[in-house]
Amino acid sequence: MPEPAMTAHRLLEQMNAGATTAEEIASQLIKKAEAAKTLNVFVHLDPDHILGQARAIDARRKAGQPVGPLAGVPVGIKDLLCVEGEPTTCGSKMLKGFKPPYDATVIARIKQAGAVLFGKCNMDEFAMGSSTENSAYGPTLNPWDASRVPGGSSGGSAAAVAADLVPLALGSDTGGSIRQPAAVCGVVGLKPTYGRVSRYGLIAFASSLDQIGPFAHDLKDTALLQAVISGHDPRDATSVDAPVPDYVAAVAQPLDRPRIGVVKEFFGAGLDPEVAAAVEAAVKIYEKAGATIREISLPHSKYGVPAYYLVAPAECSSNLARYDGTTYGHRAEDFSPKYPGEENLPPLLRMMMASRSEGFGPEVKRRIMLGTFALSAGYADQYYNKALQVRRRIREDFDRAFTEVDVLLGPTSPTPAFKLGERTANPLAMYLSDIYTITANLAGIPGISIPCGLTKSGLPIGLQLLAPAFAEETLFRIAAGFERETDWHLKRPHGG
Ligand code: GLN
Repeated sequence: MPEPAMTAHRLLEQMNAGATTAEEIASQLIKKAEAAKTLNVFVHLDPDHILGQARAIDARRKAGQPVGPLAGVPVGIKDLLCVEGEPTTCGSKMLKGFKPPYDATVIARIKQAGAVLFGKCNMDEFAMGSSTENSAYGPTLNPWDASRVPGGSSGGSAAAVAADLVPLALGSDTGGSIRQPAAVCGVVGLKPTYGRVSRYGLIAFASSLDQIGPFAHDLKDTALLQAVISGHDPRDATSVDAPVPDYVAAVAQPLDRPRIGVVKEFFGAGLDPEVAAAVEAAVKIYEKAGATIREISLPHSKYGVPAYYLVAPAECSSNLARYDGTTYGHRAEDFSPKYPGEENLPPLLRMMMASRSEGFGPEVKRRIMLGTFALSAGYADQYYNKALQVRRRIREDFDRAFTEVDVLLGPTSPTPAFKLGERTANPLAMYLSDIYTITANLAGIPGISIPCGLTKSGLPIGLQLLAPAFAEETLFRIAAGFERETDWHLKRPHGG
């Protein structure tokens, strides 16, 4: 019998029944993480700190004091969420050694809920990438096949859950960075509605697209973590002051004959036939369970990738301007003039230039240059403003679709996990990994990826469901309907 996946709800039951303690769980997982070191999942892991948190929770539980909904549950943290006093590098050499003086709101909330903050998870530098190969700290390997990538940019978070090093993890999704790694690592990943979760303390990539969300093995666990991190935060002006529905209850609701739209444009050229077959099989399962299926067209989705690669780099070029070596982050030691003409520049400027060229990796530099160009006088109308018009059209496509169906369905990623190095030389091939996920970010709507199959060679396949803004509850209900009919979420790497 394969070992069952480690879920938060099972661990909570065991801890509440006195069958185990947070300390026991934490110390086992620390050993397991040590043994799985070659996967390169964590960029920072402090056993003493983890055990200290676990002991504190155990003491509260033992004393009969109230404990939160995640009391004693280890959670992996994508390394772009600020944790007070803990290294937070964003996968970049630029922030090596940076220790934030405050907690991100999501971190404060999970601490309040009693979670044990486990390691900081590896990621593509500044969340730019789809494979975690852009990390300054080396790539993470996919637990299902170590010659392959775990997806990205939240590859460390997805791999940590897939390898059962933690039951829950937090990631961020700007164009697909939760859903795509969830799909290729065989776990659940939710990108909430823009504004549902506070971005305060999330190191910004593209502020109009970034959103934090959970990874887990099943929907109940996903809902548990999402419930804790959701809600208004006065420290993030884009966080929405709206009631948070009971997500855990939504998972237990009956499917209730949903109307499901299969997105025509998500089945075009470039889609792996095994992924297509698994998604088509999922549609059949929904049909059998009482769903009404119809085809839906989102005619502007073909412009999603080009629009995203103007909007996201434009915002990144502005957000990343703060890393100039003056206040925090990497500062070059040697900024003596190296190129003709540099001797005429003031030393401060040379210091900034040298710090940025040493601190950032090639993909981040490419994005900064793309974005600076797209925003420059004379080109903004042609590029950035045009991209904003396309963004509106994409949103209108979704608005129209959701007058006819409750959710939209398609593959999450066009292919299963690809080989390490396969797409690094070709940025466009890498960018196309997010072809089905990017439009949800441009429209601000929620999306979830759930396991829906394995390829012949044993690689996970993800099914994506998209819902109208703030309809996460619908996503939970409809995704759970599929989970109940199948056992894909129970499959484990290495024959499990
Ligand atoms: N892969 C996309 C990019 O490189 C999306 C990344 C993300 O969602 N953070 O920008």
